[in-house]
Amino acid sequence: MYSGIIERFRKQLPVSKDTPVVSLKEGNTPLILSDCLSRIIGKGFEVYLKYEGLNPTGSFKDRGMTMAVSKAKEAASRVIICASTGNTSASAAAYAAKAGIKCVVLIPEGAIALGKLAQALIHGAKVLAVRGNFDQALSLVKEIAAKYSITLVNSLNPYRLEGQKTAAFEICEDLGRAPDFQCIPVGNAGNITAYWKGYKEYKQDGKIKSLPKMLGFQAQGAAPIVKGHPIKNPKTIATAIRIGNPASWRQAEAARDESRGLIDAVSDAEIISAYKLLASREGIFVEPASAASVAGLLKLAGRNYFRRARRQAPGAARIVCVLTGHGLKDPDRVIKVIKKPKVVKAELKAVLKEIGY
Ligand SMILES: *Cc1c(COP(=O)(O)O)cnc(C)c1O
Repeated sequence: MYSGIIERFRKQLPVSKDTPVVSLKEGNTPLILSDCLSRIIGKGFEVYLKYEGLNPTGSFKDRGMTMAVSKAKEAASRVIICASTGNTSASAAAYAAKAGIKCVVLIPEGAIALGKLAQALIHGAKVLAVRGNFDQALSLVKEIAAKYSITLVNSLNPYRLEGQKTAAFEICEDLGRAPDFQCIPVGNAGNITAYWKGYKEYKQDGKIKSLPKMLGFQAQGAAPIVKGHPIKNPKTIATAIRIGNPASWRQAEAARDESRGLIDAVSDAEIISAYKLLASREGIFVEPASAASVAGLLKLAGRNYFRRARRQAPGAARIVCVLTGHGLKDPDRVIKVIKKPKVVKAELKAVLKEIGY
């Protein structure tokens, strides 16, 4: 039986036989070949989608949270705390419920998707909506965790990134090698940092021979790393990456530079267009932030980035786009971008007419 990322990758993780494993059997998410995107990028390219929205609470945050909460429990901590744009709080609340410990979450008022708020509340977290943005909520929880014996489970908690790096391991196992490129949304920049760490560790262990180029994408209105300075009032419909001052800023730059990749920005319009394409052509429903990786892929393809890279290194190339969270997280967004169903009379004739028979 599949047992979650800690059991599967125990040797690569900072756990001992005494660590009480708190798991909802996260990880083991599918790597799906996208015919449509492979065709768009061109001959010789295979584009894969790592569908992290299929984790237990609907986002990759569960990989980090199983580690953070297990280690908190090992340290006999009775309360965990986080600031969140939504998915961290949903995940923390669920794992705290499973562990039987208390969870406090600070969210920016009015700026988190409905599904995530619902999750944090139903799992019994103490949820406080702060009159401010994510960055302000994060400084508050950092201060609280420093002063009291409460465990911070934001990605500043090193165990979070340890857990998250396992997604890179899974990709390597599925492909039998590392991808050539990896596209990934960047918010607080923990995930790009974690993947890069995972790939480097697998290479050090001799499990893979090459490393991917890391291609990170921020939303245009929340692109501090691209712009080179913090953004005071970050704006984007992709709330999971609406972050103006990423905690892992330097590490993300290191991942970019060491891999000779890039970090670029995509507009909300590009994000929505990728979001619709994934749903309508691939049958994969993601939340808007997740579509930033595919929006970025398409933006780079439009500039012939991949074809040029291929001229330098001929041969088949594998690209992985990380789809970080599930579409049901943000039902309001869907309703805003799709056509509402047409209302018809409860008559056979009326229905047949509408469906063209
Ligand atoms: C947290 C999150 C991100 C951003 O990840 P970082 O580690 O903060 O860069 C992107 N997409 C979704 C769905 C998320 O929950």
